[in-house]
Amino acid sequence: MIPYPRADERSRMVEHQIRSRGITNPRVLEAMRNIPRHFFIPAPYDKSAYEDAPLPIGNGQTISQPYIVALMTELLDPYPEDRVLEIGAGSGYQAAILSMLVQHVTTIERIPAVAELARKNLEKLGLKDIDIIVGDGTRGYPEHAPFDGIIITAATPEIPQPLIDQLTVGGILVAPVGGREIQELITLSRNESGIVRSSHGGVRFVPLIGEYGWEET
Ligand code: SAM
Repeated sequence: MIPYPRADERSRMVEHQIRSRGITNPRVLEAMRNIPRHFFIPAPYDKSAYEDAPLPIGNGQTISQPYIVALMTELLDPYPEDRVLEIGAGSGYQAAILSMLVQHVTTIERIPAVAELARKNLEKLGLKDIDIIVGDGTRGYPEHAPFDGIIITAATPEIPQPLIDQLTVGGILVAPVGGREIQELITLSRNESGIVRSSHGGVRFVPLIGEYGWEET
């Protein structure tokens, strides 16, 4: 991949915010080093693109903190042949990171203007191999199911059953589960005998709005 500008800032981000907090998967670290987060940040926040924080992307939505993107990606444990579904395209940054690691990414975004932003941002990197779908991701995407990995990047009261149903045996789902303000990062791993659920600490995400998520206020 062509080295994008601000590589030094990304290296520092990876060392001081990500590796130092225990992320070890070399493919995840490499993707975080390669993908230029500043391509996904609105101009007024450009200087803050590599800071240890989520940032506004418009329409009341956010791009997640780099460490949380890395942590959720590592928990997904992606393999090159995997097909991954993301719910909550937002800026497109998480989808870009995933596309460095797996065969195919489908990402669903509920707000059409935000989906368009993701499309434009991903186009800047020439990443065309990502399907961006406008719709309610709480229903999943049965047309392309099942998925080896599902990542929900918005806060859900419970993991939507349609998403659990669209996970392969051997698949992993990662999601912030809990209240509208504060959640726990949860993984569900599906194996032959059922589902194993684990918790990975506290997080804060904007709400997942939809049929199997929160109601719009
Ligand atoms: N992954 C994004 C990124 O890399 O920039 C950040 C996601 S942002 C924290 C959460 C996104 O989920 C918002 O863009 C929001 O509009 C979207 N969202 C909320 N409910 C949704 C739903 N039911 N289906 C699809 N997207 C949804």
